Amino acid sequence: MMNLSVAAGDLLFREDDPADCAYLVEEGWVEIYTERTGWRQSLSLIGPGEVFGEMGIIDGSPRTATAVAAEDGKLLRITGDQFRALLGRTEPFHAELLVKLVARFREAQRAWMDGSLLPRQESSAMGPGYAMLARHRDLVDALDRGEIVPFVQPIVELSSGRWRGFEVLARWRSPGSGLLLPDDFLPLAERTGLIRRIDLHIAEHAMRAVAAVEGASPPYVNINFSAWHFRDDRLLPNLQGLLEKTGLAAGRVHVELTETLMLDDPERALRIMSGLEDIGVKLALDDFGTGYSSLSVLHRMPIHILKIDRTLVTGVLAEGRPRRVLRNVVSLAGDLGMEIVPEGIEDAETAEILQQLGCRIGQGYLFARPMPLDQAITAWKTSAGV
Ligand code: C2E
Ligand code: CA
Ligand code: CA
Repeated sequence: MMNLSVAAGDLLFREDDPADCAYLVEEGWVEIYTERTGWRQSLSLIGPGEVFGEMGIIDGSPRTATAVAAEDGKLLRITGDQFRALLGRTEPFHAELLVKLVARFREAQRAWMDGSLLPRQESSAMGPGYAMLARHRDLVDALDRGEIVPFVQPIVELSSGRWRGFEVLARWRSPGSGLLLPDDFLPLAERTGLIRRIDLHIAEHAMRAVAAVEGASPPYVNINFSAWHFRDDRLLPNLQGLLEKTGLAAGRVHVELTETLMLDDPERALRIMSGLEDIGVKLALDDFGTGYSSLSVLHRMPIHILKIDRTLVTGVLAEGRPRRVLRNVVSLAGDLGMEIVPEGIEDAETAEILQQLGCRIGQGYLFARPMPLDQAITAWKTSAGV
């Protein structure tokens, strides 16, 4: 068996090739398609934990479809001999059954291909795999056409409302559906890994625009980076490339990350975080106070900014646990030299209490809603940040 790294677009096998191996997808997605029909007909999208290419080994037939990496990923290649050896160890009845099932599947596949059963358009009626594949394609096309755009929300000084920086938030300006929010398209991008391209695309635009704003205390930019970026070693060179390209000082870039990045490969994630810290970028832990997030993760990670989740922030209005928790968090963060940024501040009273608890900076609809990047930059320039 052999581990294989693939890049988006890599060809794994073609229709009619002899079937000499099978693959297990460890990371990323592989598209299986056929051109037997005269056009490119997607058959399925194979994701993490799934096997493909095994049927030809079982019945000795050549490939009946083409397999291409839809995203960067990792595969485990299992040779025909290894696969057959594994099969040989199963009960003969089961092995025989498998051969019969594959034969039956092939028959159905042939009937489907030859007959009128084959639809010209992928539709949700063809199952969730097809719907997802179609949606994934739409998103890739949208990205290529420049429809995925950065919006920004100002991060402000609580006492004066003065703008200090911006958090960049992705929006999809869909010609058919209007302005779509991250919840409408990022979960899919998160499943397929496309999120990495989206994050870098959004980052580049925002960094370039923010770099053009100078002055005594120019704005910083907070960029959300998915946990995907902490599973391979490309984030650091990619970000360095963007800093060079856009001319933005590293100190004005805040990378927002969530603690889920510690789930897969904590050692690698920590190494990447240290690398970011070394080039002068600041790290912000996002959504603090949600789920199982706890103070215990803080001392392990090189974190400079703690973003307090809206659920905890809205809770401080009442004299209860959230207020006590926040008071402790602010004091501990102060000891650790971290800046606290409460999010989702919607009313003046909450802003007041947060200041009493020791917060200086914050973010929320009370001050400003997310807005198009250009609009925010223009507003900053005309008011010099006030
Ligand atoms: P987040 O990083 O926690 O971003 C803050 C979210 O809270 C934003 O939602 C923002 O519009 C919303 N918000 C800000 N102030 C208030 C307020 O006062 N009240 C309420 N109710 N909401 C407020 P949005 O833009 O829908 O983004 C949702 C999530 O999608 C973000 O949560 C972030 O996790 C993710 N996201 C957005 N853009 C990107 C991106 O470019 N890359 C990645 N990886 N994730 C992104
Ligand atoms: Ca964020
Ligand atoms: Ca957040």
